[in-house]
Amino acid sequence: MADDLFNSFMNGPDEQGRFGIFGGRFVSETLMPLILSLEAEYNRAKDDPAFWAEMRDLWTHYVGRPSPLYHAERLSAELGGAKIYMKRDELNHTGAHKVNNVLGQILLARRMGKTRIIAETGAGQHGVATATVCAKFGLKCIVYMGAHDVKRQAPNVFRMRLLGAEVIPVTSGRGTLKDAMNDALRDWVTNVRDTFYCIGTAAGPHPYPAMVRDFQSIIGKEVRWQLAEQEGEGRLPDTVIAAIGGGSNAIGLFHPFLDDPSVKIIGVEAGGKGVDDRIQHCASLTGGRPGVLHGNRTYLLQDEDGQIQEGYSISAGLDYPGIGPEHSWLHESGRAEYVSITDKEALEAFLVSCRTEGIIPALEPSHALAHVMKIAPKLPSDHIIVMNMCGRGDKDVFTVAKHLGFDMSDTEEGRSFEE
Ligand SMILES: *Cc1c(COP(=O)(O)O)cnc(C)c1O
Repeated sequence: MADDLFNSFMNGPDEQGRFGIFGGRFVSETLMPLILSLEAEYNRAKDDPAFWAEMRDLWTHYVGRPSPLYHAERLSAELGGAKIYMKRDELNHTGAHKVNNVLGQILLARRMGKTRIIAETGAGQHGVATATVCAKFGLKCIVYMGAHDVKRQAPNVFRMRLLGAEVIPVTSGRGTLKDAMNDALRDWVTNVRDTFYCIGTAAGPHPYPAMVRDFQSIIGKEVRWQLAEQEGEGRLPDTVIAAIGGGSNAIGLFHPFLDDPSVKIIGVEAGGKGVDDRIQHCASLTGGRPGVLHGNRTYLLQDEDGQIQEGYSISAGLDYPGIGPEHSWLHESGRAEYVSITDKEALEAFLVSCRTEGIIPALEPSHALAHVMKIAPKLPSDHIIVMNMCGRGDKDVFTVAKHLGFDMSDTEEGRSFEE
């Protein structure tokens, strides 16, 4: 199983934050001292039982962990093959996995005495999670959000404001997630003393990809003991599957299984309208190539001149033009397989989950489910698949309605969505 650099996949990254040739720390000199002090504090916290005791307490009483590991019996029967489990991270406070990571980073910020938290957000999910935890701890919260996204995601902008956060629309570039992240990095270097940058996915300069992964790994760790409890001592999943935007929920599920060669690992990217050269998708691994963005080397959507391209997906949470560097490494080393699923396939899976299990999923995990639906029928009934149901679908019902041609424009909620 081992890669030449590490004797274990679980030991990545190296001292420089590299996963093979990916990752690292491509930042300006002004940012370097900030990153180094963050890294030092994280290394101290990681080995401090008091830090994890506080995390555990909040995970239990604030987030609602452990999230259930649920045998999707009707879905499994309908597909007629593998035994399918869903890891129910959509039941977390704020409705997705993002809060696992935000709690970790905010506790770290508190240890460092930082009082001003900044974050970037695309669809608004990470912004809402950050605003939530800042409210809980009485911290000032500033969220950078592309001006285009501010318009598209009005309900999440309002949620952040209710929670006391200031939302700053970003007009540079094309006014989307990539530009919001650039502005957040700029803010950080100008407000060195009191500010902590809370990144929303397993990307950015070292130590963010490893740190975010460590916080999200609670997902896979719980799956390990929960499956053993339900299927018998020592039983591991045969396949684990998760959707990938930047890759944080996926690496959280995958990481505890990287050194178990019997566990097949599959990441599902957003194939949008199909992976070809028009880039109407967000499949950085299947349709991109390596480059440097936001402080790390990884696979990116880019044109021939190396210009970063905007991704497209029906699911706003998946349209980051890059992918966390650890996934690029797992892809090139062959330890994990990466596939893509189109909008249309994800929509079908969304409906199947509603109908067979009474679970309205977010469109992001619907991509993972769509791949489960492709492979499960060909697998034997003793093959266990665990997929990460990383978010709930409340935020997506209007998008789905529109695609199904279901007219909600004359309802009050429908109107506000259209605006
Ligand atoms: C943000 C989000 C994602 C994408 O982010 P990752 O870092 O790839 O996990 C996926 N699903 C949901 C529900 C999200 O909110």
